[in-house]
Amino acid sequence: MKKDTYIDIHIIGEADTVIGLREVEETIRKEFRSATKISRSTINPENFYDPSRKQYHSTKILKEMLDELPADASKMIGIISHDLFIPILTFVFGEAQLDGNVGIVSFARLQQEFYGLPPNQALLQRRLIKEIKHELGHTFGLIHCSLRECVMSVANNIADVDAKGSTFCEGCNELLRRSQKGQ
Ligand SMILES: [Zn+2]
Ligand SMILES: [Zn+2]
Repeated sequence: MKKDTYIDIHIIGEADTVIGLREVEETIRKEFRSATKISRSTINPENFYDPSRKQYHSTKILKEMLDELPADASKMIGIISHDLFIPILTFVFGEAQLDGNVGIVSFARLQQEFYGLPPNQALLQRRLIKEIKHELGHTFGLIHCSLRECVMSVANNIADVDAKGSTFCEGCNELLRRSQKGQ
């Protein structure tokens, strides 16, 4: 990876009032061996609201994020509080361009409150970190991993998110490093 690039942590809406950004930054720096910057989005999620689904179109927001990607940023990871969807699925925890520049994570369904449970900040943070690593992994070309303990394993529901590990398995880690060298 080029020395002067960084991963842009892109806050869409009021996300940073709920989550611990410092921990997010530290994780990204360590795991992706990259500098980070935090930016505030000018994207208005309401433009991507689907009234029939009462959710926000993830792919359209990703497209918009590409326009906001700074020239010196290697990747951009969006963090949003709104519940995201893509047309073929009832919801997504996040989405990313495979081997691309942008990914997004929603913490709507990572919050205990979504399931009628009392809030748990530590749990929310753990889940968010996993999903951020997962979506950023996709931007580095990683596909879904069959190992349950790997953060690149697929999560279809919140139990899957909790069950999977928070780190890359040996194979995925190897691919990640190779992909970073190629940049
Ligand atoms: Zn995935
Ligand atoms: Zn893996």
